[in-house]
Amino acid sequence: RAKSDGRGNFRFFEKGMDAAMQHRRAIESGLKLGLTRDEFRLVFQPLMDLENNSISCMEALLRWEHSEMGFISPAEFIPVAEEIGFIVQLGEWVLRQACLAAATWPTDIRVAVNLSPVQFKSRRLMESVQQALDEACLPASRLELEITESVLLSDSDQTLETLHALRAMGIRISMDDFGTGYSSLSYLRAFPFDKIKIDRSFIEDVGSKDANFEIIKAVIALGRSLGMATTAEGVETEAQLDAVRAHGCDEFQGFLFSRPLPAKDALELITRLTPARAVEPRLTSNG
Ligand code: C2E
Ligand code: MG
Ligand code: MG
Ligand code: MG
Repeated sequence: RAKSDGRGNFRFFEKGMDAAMQHRRAIESGLKLGLTRDEFRLVFQPLMDLENNSISCMEALLRWEHSEMGFISPAEFIPVAEEIGFIVQLGEWVLRQACLAAATWPTDIRVAVNLSPVQFKSRRLMESVQQALDEACLPASRLELEITESVLLSDSDQTLETLHALRAMGIRISMDDFGTGYSSLSYLRAFPFDKIKIDRSFIEDVGSKDANFEIIKAVIALGRSLGMATTAEGVETEAQLDAVRAHGCDEFQGFLFSRPLPAKDALELITRLTPARAVEPRLTSNG
């Protein structure tokens, strides 16, 4: 039919916008309902200690299976949860579940939890971290909190205070996705992180791109001289593993060793790899 192109396109465009808006609204309203309907799950991905070839930590990653829309990626729903402020409540749920899971693991395996910048600025943060630890009877030394550079972008006095207070509790603080922010190096100067997680984008082409190789080398050396451990994120191939190992990286994480696993499978993996420690966690230390 001979409709005007302009008008037709415009209507099509409008319809597209509509669908996107509706999808977003569905996510917004679905988040809160999802928490009460038990639609959220944590999965856990091991961080491997390269020196001992053992699991040092498990990173908790949030998953959402919406009743109608199905699986929704955290990359999609977390920014929405941040915008509407719901991330504070959702993040508290993550902290509690992560600590409860860690309490079932051998005592030398820590749990890492991602913190949103929004959550970080909430006045409830310190209290909810302490509550999560208490509820699970988990020592603070078994919790790592991962923050991205965006946490340090604003409000820096308040932010640094909170970071130091968490550290004083015995919690470890990791800088996540290192190298992707605007001013990565200045953040390392601002706070003595326990761990630098080198972003996956530097690991990806490590075999073919000399620049990435040099950057990884430099970050590992930098971490060492600042007393910060380094973790390579997103290791998928043996070649990538060899490269990060060769330069003295402390840990790696990635599909090569394991994808993120549901709590039950994570515990099975831990038990399979460390049967002695799982049974008699207190009798196998060197001391
Ligand atoms: P992240 O904290 O950097 O987590 C690592 C992401 O890389 C995870 O994606 C993980 O599944 C993925 N990954 C791990 N190894 C590999 C690999 O070898 N290859 C590839 N291609 N990917 C790998 P995921 O679970 O989709 O999470 C994406 C991001 O969403 C996380 O990045 C984190 O920023 C955020 N996120 C996830 N869970 C939470 C949460 O509970 N709270 C907050 N605030 N953010 C979360
Ligand atoms: Mg992370
Ligand atoms: Mg990361
Ligand atoms: Mg990331």
